[in-house]
Amino acid sequence: MIHATIASMNSPDKFSLDEMLKDLGTLVSMESPSRDIARVTAHAEALSAMMQRMLGTAPALVDSPVGPHVHWQGGGEPKVLILGHHDTVHPVGTLVDIPFSVEGGIARGPGVFDMKAGIVQALHAVAALDDSSHIEILLTADEEIGSKESRALLEERALACGSVLVLEPSADGGALKIGRKGTGTIIVHLEGRASHAGLEPEKGINSLVELASLIPQIVAIANPALGTTVSPTMASSGTADNVIPAMTTCAVDIRVAIPEEKPRVEAEFAALTLANPEVKLSLTGGIGRPPMHESAAAELMPLAQSVATKIGLGSIDGIVVGGGSDGNFTAAVGVQTLDGLGAVGGGAHGADEHVIVSTMPARAALLAGLCQELSSMAKRPPLGNVPAPR
Ligand SMILES: [Zn+2]
Repeated sequence: MIHATIASMNSPDKFSLDEMLKDLGTLVSMESPSRDIARVTAHAEALSAMMQRMLGTAPALVDSPVGPHVHWQGGGEPKVLILGHHDTVHPVGTLVDIPFSVEGGIARGPGVFDMKAGIVQALHAVAALDDSSHIEILLTADEEIGSKESRALLEERALACGSVLVLEPSADGGALKIGRKGTGTIIVHLEGRASHAGLEPEKGINSLVELASLIPQIVAIANPALGTTVSPTMASSGTADNVIPAMTTCAVDIRVAIPEEKPRVEAEFAALTLANPEVKLSLTGGIGRPPMHESAAAELMPLAQSVATKIGLGSIDGIVVGGGSDGNFTAAVGVQTLDGLGAVGGGAHGADEHVIVSTMPARAALLAGLCQELSSMAKRPPLGNVPAPR
């Protein structure tokens, strides 16, 4: 039985690196910076043609104010959502300085690692499946700018499919991402009243003194035992050394490791109490993506390890990272999620962005194996222990 499974699973040598690099060159040579609707649209159309050629059917191009999301469905009962984004952080013109190239086994170009190589691996993986009817692929247009226009769609499709495989780049030479912290910044604005500090200080309302009284309340919102940190990091106040300061602002960096902490932290900020009720307090910012808790990957990570073993990849790490992705959203609505299944390389978002091309067939095989295993199982029910944070 075990041998039959090995034989029926796509091994890395079934994937053509030449074909993958040709497709990678096509995508990287079309810049697709977030918010550049014309270029994002052209890139979506190129993806559509590629999917039609490789998968036999074209995706839907879902219009949004930031350009089209690309949504391909296998047509059967959906069980797996392969989730990625086709926008990049690199401004137009990056391609002039860093054209697509493959030299010494390293591919370069804007967005090559985050995440066009991941997209190419995924298309080749799905094309290699005997049965891709249970697979959906969603490539959004705005992940790099916070996913405001895709969040509802990707949450809906995650819930419909029951498991999510995210194509974000791997960590540390191939490690998968099993958890991500939620992060944010809240700015505390305090408005008092200015007056001359020597002539009539009693007529002023000192917003800096008020901040001093608020800081102990703010730092007490942290809960290190739950992984929640609340750190005042920058403050500014006043206009001159002889003026009672009317305006004071303080930036507070916030990190949360479990979903329940996001609403608690936000509620406690909203409930801060002033020592001087004449001061006006307002808050801006907030916690953006909710955390992706490790429990979301509790079934998928062992499955990935068993696939990696079957196809000869050996042991594969799963780590928790600080930064967020759309996997944070899908995990937060209670859908099991495994992230970091994309490219192996480094330098995301920078000039050194690169992919180690020899890894691409194996990463495609890993994704194909996961799709195959999940397709053969019953649809995964929502994770009961992870509340939606809305
Ligand atoms: Zn990305």
